[in-house]
Amino acid sequence: MAELKNEPKIDPREVLEGIVEWVTIESPSHDAKAVNVVVDKVEGQFRDLGLKLERIPGRDGFGDILECKTPWGEGKGILVLAHLDTVHPIGMIEKDLKIRQEGDSVFGPGIYDMKAGGYIAYYALRHLIRQGKKTKLPVTFLFIPEEEVGSPTSRSRIEAAARGHKYCLVMEPGRDGDKVVTSRKGVGRFVMTVKGRASHAGVRHEDGRSAILEMARQIVRIEGRTDYNRGITVNVGLINGGTGVNVISADCTAEIDLRVPDQKIAEEMTHWFLNLEPIGPDVEVKVEGGMNRPPYQKDAGIAQLFDKAQAIYREIGKDLKDVPLTGGGSDGNFTAALGIPTLDGLGADGKGAHAAYEQIYYSSLMPRTYLCARLLETLE
Ligand SMILES: [Zn+2]
Repeated sequence: MAELKNEPKIDPREVLEGIVEWVTIESPSHDAKAVNVVVDKVEGQFRDLGLKLERIPGRDGFGDILECKTPWGEGKGILVLAHLDTVHPIGMIEKDLKIRQEGDSVFGPGIYDMKAGGYIAYYALRHLIRQGKKTKLPVTFLFIPEEEVGSPTSRSRIEAAARGHKYCLVMEPGRDGDKVVTSRKGVGRFVMTVKGRASHAGVRHEDGRSAILEMARQIVRIEGRTDYNRGITVNVGLINGGTGVNVISADCTAEIDLRVPDQKIAEEMTHWFLNLEPIGPDVEVKVEGGMNRPPYQKDAGIAQLFDKAQAIYREIGKDLKDVPLTGGGSDGNFTAALGIPTLDGLGADGKGAHAAYEQIYYSSLMPRTYLCARLLETLE
């Protein structure tokens, strides 16, 4: 049981202090400057560990991507993914999400999704280094500046990195009750545009062709594709149309979110969306979009990686479980779709991602840090 002798120990107080330092720097996805302040912080910490750093300047208004590699190890190693952006606007830290501990819960903007997870990964490596240990495989940490808006500027970098690695560990929030994530639905985004014909609603009603009416019919059809048995959900989440209450609307647009369990259904649904036809007369309907995160399915490689994680958790007398297919996407969708064994949801347990009661459970910090440290140490 030599591996169990942790000198120095994983100290959950110390882990929490480090997490709080990251959380204190608010970093909404669309505020590149703010995100880069936390990138600076993380960069300095990994530099101090002796890692090789590469910082890729942000574009399209997003922050920088940070890549940190261990100087040791050869061949394909472990890719650790974490994002440093949060969904919360600047100022939440002084309002609903003041950093505070109440019993086992610690609150803060982005603490659960996912600064705790990112910091746990950093601490886990530091813990190994402090013990004079090295990982068997090289490790690359990739910090993403805009995951919460779908990783538009970092997706290609994530995929390129994944191809060069054997495993991928994603530090997204853990799930309550010692659960991690081994599969996620794919996410599609579509925009439907309807063109009708404007007319005076009082004087020339019969000449108009209402884009809003057409959209209303389309929405009923689109939402009708939700099928819980097949794991398909469709949501028209945004709608915009019309110019005045006394004008028959010429234009209407709607944005649609699609979640699917597998690639076959992803293709079926994409084809269906892109070929939607008008329902009423004399209107035009156009649909654009597609899948923006492919489905992440638990294959044999993922099952094996999960088994290893379970064995590690048993070393500290705990039982690790995985959640049934979740509808939330992550950067793990990209790496799993490339066939890289991916284990996700390795961050702290807690609840309230994206909500004003976002929190982590203090009691999860030790086991989660242990799990991450031992995965890094033992994967080969
Ligand atoms: Zn997240």
